[in-house]
Amino acid sequence: MAGRFLIQGALTRAGVTDVRVESGVITAVGPALGATDGETVVDARGAVLMPGFINTHHHLFQSVLKGVPAGLAVPLMPWLEAVPYTYGPRIDEEALTVAATLGLAELLLSGCTTVADHHYLFGASLGYDPAPILFAAAESLGLRFVLLRGGATKTRAFAGPDDKPLPHEPLDAMLRGVQDTVHRFHDPSPSAMRKVVMAPTTPFYSTTPDELRELARAARAMGIGLHSHLSETDDYVRFAAERFGMRPVHWCAEHEWIGPDVSFAHMVHLDASEIALCGSTRTGIAHCPQSNGRLGSGVAPVQALHEAGAIVGIGVDGAASNEAADMVSELHAAWLIHRAAKGAGAMDTDQLVQWATSGGARLFGLGDVGEIAPGRQADLVLYGLDHPRYAGNHDPVSAPITAAGAPLLRHVWVAGREVVRDGAIPGFDLPAWLARADAVVRRLRRDA
Ligand SMILES: [Zn+2]
Repeated sequence: MAGRFLIQGALTRAGVTDVRVESGVITAVGPALGATDGETVVDARGAVLMPGFINTHHHLFQSVLKGVPAGLAVPLMPWLEAVPYTYGPRIDEEALTVAATLGLAELLLSGCTTVADHHYLFGASLGYDPAPILFAAAESLGLRFVLLRGGATKTRAFAGPDDKPLPHEPLDAMLRGVQDTVHRFHDPSPSAMRKVVMAPTTPFYSTTPDELRELARAARAMGIGLHSHLSETDDYVRFAAERFGMRPVHWCAEHEWIGPDVSFAHMVHLDASEIALCGSTRTGIAHCPQSNGRLGSGVAPVQALHEAGAIVGIGVDGAASNEAADMVSELHAAWLIHRAAKGAGAMDTDQLVQWATSGGARLFGLGDVGEIAPGRQADLVLYGLDHPRYAGNHDPVSAPITAAGAPLLRHVWVAGREVVRDGAIPGFDLPAWLARADAVVRRLRRDA
């Protein structure tokens, strides 16, 4: 199904709606549009239509690092040592291909149509370039893909069992690598299928302060966005206080890492002045509630950031600190976590869906993505409700999130192209990919 079609009778927050799609773009939205001659009609009666979700922060390579026992009950720092620092140097081309493909397939089957992957394994010690592998995996599934091109010029002195640090590279190699990837893959348009963002792994630990400023300037000269991790735990706050005598967001602002082209994952530990600064500069946050819960990092003040004017997106973070990559489960967890922490009025699902769609799109300059409106990209998900879980629900439009569980995907379209039908990805050989994942995990664990 491509080209021109009419989705008829879908449930949306605006009521029962038809949506016409032509050449990958939504061209009409309204009740009873009526099919034209020869137009393919999708019967959407009794199903919920939403924009596809945008996962704004992920680490696909971690999709073969779920449930590592040494990392299951520890906070961020020992988890980093036990999981990414131990296994990152072992991620070869086959491991990355398998992890990326299965991670993207898992996201797609949770209604996610755009993935921003913060990949930070770059350096000569790897022996290969991860960027083309990641873009190829996304293209094979038909997903929209943003490479948050991570990496570091220095690395923390964690010695894993292989006694190898995470791959890293000198600044000039990092800049050349980003420029080459931008040249090959980046499309600046608001409807791009591929984007590249400058994304050193962390502002404090991955580069020197001068290098960080140079990366910001290079990114802006190339016309690409900026992204990093920030203030996931108290350690960031302590480090910035001891080393620089200021709060992390203020320090980033002094180094030109603030503004509407900048987004940070996590931002759990902010004070009022940092929230105000993010708001007044329209800085973005990729909110990752499940990973923050899993690692015991805390609950990000995301509603306060939103009210201050910051741009909010939702991310699942890597599957090694989540054990899954599932946007429905992420939104459901967010709905519960904020209420558990702040009361039943603290969060509603319409807000979460907006953050997970048009909010996320704004983080990366994808202004034509994330809304059901004429002129927008036809990234659409049709959720069936034919399951006991959804029966008896007085608000069926929010049921895929409030009832959660694995969604019943009747159709998923990206740019009008059908990429999921009846809960399956056409042409995707799942048993073969699962067997390859088993082999990769066995190999990775050889002497863990
Ligand atoms: Zn992360």
